[in-house]
Amino acid sequence: MKLDVDVLRYLSKDDFRVLTAVEMGMRNHEIVPSDLIGRIASLKHGGTYKVLKNLLKHKLVHHDSSKYDGFRLTYLGYDFLAIKTMVNRGVFTAVGRQIGVGKESDIFEVSNEDGTVMAMKLHRLGRTSFRAVKSKRDYLRHRSSFNWLYLSRLAALKEFAFMKALEEHGFPVPNAVDCNRHCVVMSLIQGYPLVQVKQLLNPETVFETIIGLVVRLAEHGLIHCDFNEFNIMIDDDEKVTMIDFPQMVSVSHRNAQMYFDRDIECIFKFFGKRFNLSFEECSDDIDDDESSRPSFSSITKTAGFLDKELAASGFTRKDEDDIQKFIEGDVEEDDVSDDEHDSELCQTNIKGFDSLHLDQEESTSRCNEEGQVVEILQSPEVGQSGDPESQNLSSNEGDENDDTELVKSLAKQRRRAMAAARKGHHKNSTSRNSYKDKGGKSSNNSKIQKQLASW
Ligand code: ADP
Ligand code: MG
Repeated sequence: MKLDVDVLRYLSKDDFRVLTAVEMGMRNHEIVPSDLIGRIASLKHGGTYKVLKNLLKHKLVHHDSSKYDGFRLTYLGYDFLAIKTMVNRGVFTAVGRQIGVGKESDIFEVSNEDGTVMAMKLHRLGRTSFRAVKSKRDYLRHRSSFNWLYLSRLAALKEFAFMKALEEHGFPVPNAVDCNRHCVVMSLIQGYPLVQVKQLLNPETVFETIIGLVVRLAEHGLIHCDFNEFNIMIDDDEKVTMIDFPQMVSVSHRNAQMYFDRDIECIFKFFGKRFNLSFEECSDDIDDDESSRPSFSSITKTAGFLDKELAASGFTRKDEDDIQKFIEGDVEEDDVSDDEHDSELCQTNIKGFDSLHLDQEESTSRCNEEGQVVEILQSPEVGQSGDPESQNLSSNEGDENDDTELVKSLAKQRRRAMAAARKGHHKNSTSRNSYKDKGGKSSNNSKIQKQLASW
């Protein structure tokens, strides 16, 4: 499936209105009935069906008439909604090349008006194990219609919250700029994943820094759980930055010790193999073992240390429970064959995002023109911040008090986002990340240059 990225430039207000209506409908429906989409979108002159046909043509929605006539969002449709929100908030104005592709995410360069280049991570939980998402419906229960949207949004929110909290405690992490739906914008790290580095001037120092980070994380009550050469970035001065936080757990997790040891083991193994570092051999004597590797039990841990910061970013304990259940369940089912894969979700191909330029001013003014209704429509994150089911369609459709609250909360959220975006503006004129990451696609044209004519 090849995406024509130009589509994004020519999507009209009505297109986005209907796309957002589909998203809202998905809080209660796996497949949103066409007439419900029409009612939510309530376009002035009708015509929702025509718009849906256009969205379908560009693969932003998926049509399903097996039980009744309806539609659901594709990842691509969700991407467009998140990107539009970010552009409206002034976080970035252009999307550039893809710089990374993880198991369940895609990472792109984005840039804002003053040329600051940042990284945008689009979470795609369920892409590689859609079946696992489906089979976790017992815990998602009534939220089943929300599975991948909900989980990807949670992953993004968790990543954003942890990144912010870690940054505030002086950990070397990207600067968390903003978060919407399944999308996190952060500063671009000028470096390379450690896995691509063949030589280091001071491998021992880097090794010690990295092991020190695992220990310091534990002292702060946290375990990364995926601390390996793919999630450690290193720059030309051999400065280390850690990334990728959706799977982090607390030191009070029942498997904390195992996760901690696994993180430590990954680093020891990698440095032993790649940089020929030799470590004290473990003998049968337990004391010797403990002197060669940091031991979880001897670290003074402060569980709950970051709780305040995490809560401030809107990430709740319930969110943590939900995502943790999925991650742990997903690990168990990793080897399940993917014959139930939703091919469309798997194939979301945003290669064409290259060189897309979004006109922020245009989009902002359009957003203002849209008025209150569209603001509500554009902000499912308000409904999503807690239990998505608590935002049912009837309240979205009619309750004016709720609307006022939503608009207020939206305005507050936007102000916060703008402040965060401004704070996170680092001038990075060029990117050195011209590598292919884990099969990631680099574009021929790394400049972000085209202008989005109408948004
Ligand atoms: P996943 O969760 O899918 O593994 P990661 O957050 O680890 O995603 O990102 C995948 C790759 O994208 C990384 O290995 C790195 O190469 C690149 N990447 C991620 N975040 C950044 C960033 N802030 N700056 C530069 N490159 C990044
Ligand atoms: Mg990773």
